Amino acid sequence: MNKFNNKNIKSVLQKYESIWAIDHVSYLSSWDLETYMPSMGSKPRGMAMAKLSVLRQTLLLDSIFVQEVESLAQDKGLNDYEKGIVRMLKRELDQYQKLPPQFIEVYEKLINESQIAWRDARQKNKFEIFAPFLEKIVAINRRKADFLGFADHPYDALLNLYEEGLTTKDLDKYFYEVREFVLELLQKIRRKPDYSQTNALVSMKYDIQKATELSEYILELFGWDKSNLRLDVSTHPFTESMASKYDVRITTRYEGTNFGSSTGSTIHEYGHALYEMQTDSDLEYTPIGRPSSLTLHESQSRFWENMIGKNPTFLSKILAKVKTLGDEFSSLEVDDLNEYFGLVSPGLIRVEADEVTYHLHILIRFEIEKGLMDGSIHVKDVRGAWNSMYEKYLGIKPSSDALGVLQDVHWSMGAIGYFSTYSLGTVVSAIWKERIEHDIGLIEEILKKDNGFEQIQNWLEKNIHQYGSTYTFKELISKSAGQEFSIEPWKKYLEHKYLGM
Ligand code: MG
Repeated sequence: MNKFNNKNIKSVLQKYESIWAIDHVSYLSSWDLETYMPSMGSKPRGMAMAKLSVLRQTLLLDSIFVQEVESLAQDKGLNDYEKGIVRMLKRELDQYQKLPPQFIEVYEKLINESQIAWRDARQKNKFEIFAPFLEKIVAINRRKADFLGFADHPYDALLNLYEEGLTTKDLDKYFYEVREFVLELLQKIRRKPDYSQTNALVSMKYDIQKATELSEYILELFGWDKSNLRLDVSTHPFTESMASKYDVRITTRYEGTNFGSSTGSTIHEYGHALYEMQTDSDLEYTPIGRPSSLTLHESQSRFWENMIGKNPTFLSKILAKVKTLGDEFSSLEVDDLNEYFGLVSPGLIRVEADEVTYHLHILIRFEIEKGLMDGSIHVKDVRGAWNSMYEKYLGIKPSSDALGVLQDVHWSMGAIGYFSTYSLGTVVSAIWKERIEHDIGLIEEILKKDNGFEQIQNWLEKNIHQYGSTYTFKELISKSAGQEFSIEPWKKYLEHKYLGM
């Protein structure tokens, strides 16, 4: 079926191909920066990216192109795909029209330098090395918010960049509900007679070569096609698609202990990759060809990481491979894996957090970002605020900056307003699980079938992935799950899993 019938849409899409081409090489370049680029390459790379982003802005702001998009926005006869294209382009145009080119160039240069400073600071365990850069990042983001405009809170302007329409007010309410629920659930879990706050597997040393094989084995279980998906290693695991479903790259990391963090990252990033790879090929090279809602994206990665990767049936499928990770692993049973992956224990590191305490990590980042944006928290006080909130909500205080305020790459990339989508996405993953189980059966039963992974992949393709960015996250939830966004399915899921309710 031809999705694009409108003559003006066709003309806009043809012009858009040059913009797409810049995106393609920009994503490739960003993948390279995180994986194989030698450190001295950062300066020329920063220069190239800054120039390319200005070029991109020039192409988008071409007056004929803008006119065509504006007139399409008035067209009442568009189908959903065409509406999606206009929505995505209007969103980009709106930002570009408000941000001066010089501003974008300065911004790009700053974040390229900041990422190198952050790596150095983290390695030397010294917040003071990164603080002057964070100071600049906060200042430039406040200017950015002023350029973009906002109704209530400067933070709103940034939140909207990562999730369309998301506001501080929404999140205040959301995190209040999440916090109350998590703190109470945590208490109940800790009062259970069989509660354990630690597990021997956390500190067990594994063979990195064998762990690499385990990651590859898991991807093969999922039906890994190496012709469009690569797996590499990086400091911070991530997924990058080259703005195309045919070239998607994921990374993981191997730290030598706590193997679940490594397989968890592989599975998490696979969830992101699958979303890209299953987008409808008719949408290639268009503004909706790449899934853009971070909440929806994270709902996919967290679905695979938690609902597949920690499922008892799945764990029984990888047990034999896990046993090869080292001598100590050879006597493990599937119950040991279930206990290890079901561990709920407050820790310092977000990416290693369990499903329950995870949201407290995000809440802390939300509070700090909000404070930085409205001026109620200063950069010099960020470490103190971080440490005291960890003590307040998780009952533990970071012993070093590397394990505390310097653990995440996001701020060094200029990304203020991003973190909340991790929590929202996790909550949305429970909506999908509920819907899948309603449509095709319990996950652990599906996974017992030979084509179990395929059945789940097909469901996700049909209901979520194929659409790329055609719909906003709230629209897609309502279309494909038949309900409004709500935290109730997520609450039910956790209560069922951890309290047997
Ligand atoms: Mg993710």
